[in-house]
Amino acid sequence: QRAEWAKLKDEQSVSADGKEFVVGANIGSPKDMAAVLDNGSEGIGLYRTEFLYMESDHLPTEDEQFEAYKAVVEKMGDKPVTVRTMDIGGDKHLSYWQLPEEENPFLGYRAIRISLDQTEIFRTQLRALLRASAFGNLWIMFPMIATLGEFRAAKKIYVEERTKLEESGVKVGDIKLGIMIEIPAAAMLADKFAKEVDFFSIGTNDLIGYTMAADRGNDRVAYLYQPYNPSILRLINNVIAAAHNEGKFVAMCGEMAGDPIAVPVLMGMGLDEFSMSAPSVLQTRSLMKKLDTTKMAELAKQALDAETNDEVIALVKEVTQ
Ligand code: PEP
Ligand code: MG
Repeated sequence: QRAEWAKLKDEQSVSADGKEFVVGANIGSPKDMAAVLDNGSEGIGLYRTEFLYMESDHLPTEDEQFEAYKAVVEKMGDKPVTVRTMDIGGDKHLSYWQLPEEENPFLGYRAIRISLDQTEIFRTQLRALLRASAFGNLWIMFPMIATLGEFRAAKKIYVEERTKLEESGVKVGDIKLGIMIEIPAAAMLADKFAKEVDFFSIGTNDLIGYTMAADRGNDRVAYLYQPYNPSILRLINNVIAAAHNEGKFVAMCGEMAGDPIAVPVLMGMGLDEFSMSAPSVLQTRSLMKKLDTTKMAELAKQALDAETNDEVIALVKEVTQ
């Protein structure tokens, strides 16, 4: 099977009936680029920049960040690289920067909430990204967005830094600006967000956890971590429809994007980009090639109308095997 998949390395991801999709890879550092290129990824759908902060013993400087981002976009050429601004907090800690102790870190001070509070750290990261954007096809997205106000505040700071750099003669690229949809509040209000962003990327790891109110790492409640629960599928479908209604691009960068049970349903919903760990890219491209999007749209409709996670699994197996 591996040999079969390897033949698809330089091919475009396309369904049996000729609909094109983007199959991208997730990375945590420039060191991951070899796997990305070896597996013929059509883009990078998620560059988790917090690893740059976690692997350092000090806050990464603008130049240190610039070098890392530039290395990645240059290697990808004209293929898109979606860089997520840092998602520190929750379970991700920094040795050199003590964040407040909290009772509920996953409902606390993390990601864009920190960036909008510690704006100098955010501005430094944005300047590094803006400078790197001149060397490839760089998109920026903000993690853990819950409200329109947060997106507007983050965008305002981005525009200020962009304008300052341009006025001082620094070359910057044509950046697309988007948000992660990983909080149910943002998924429900996707039609409003879609008018203001260039793209969405659905973060199912957090979206499932926050929607089911269950931590997958906790054995006692892990059974509630149900990716195919119709409640989750309805949120995802709402986000895709809202984006497309405004002519916007919608990606997914959570684990679900590379899951062979979820992929047929997501194709049927019309998801544009599937971003996953690099070793899953070719297997997903191979699966897509076998599936017809008209049939998958019918499957998606049935899945959205199902009652349970298990029912959806059975529906998918029936249609794809
Ligand atoms: C997600 O929540 O699905 C996601 C991609 O972000 P992370 O896994 O880094 O929290
Ligand atoms: Mg997340």
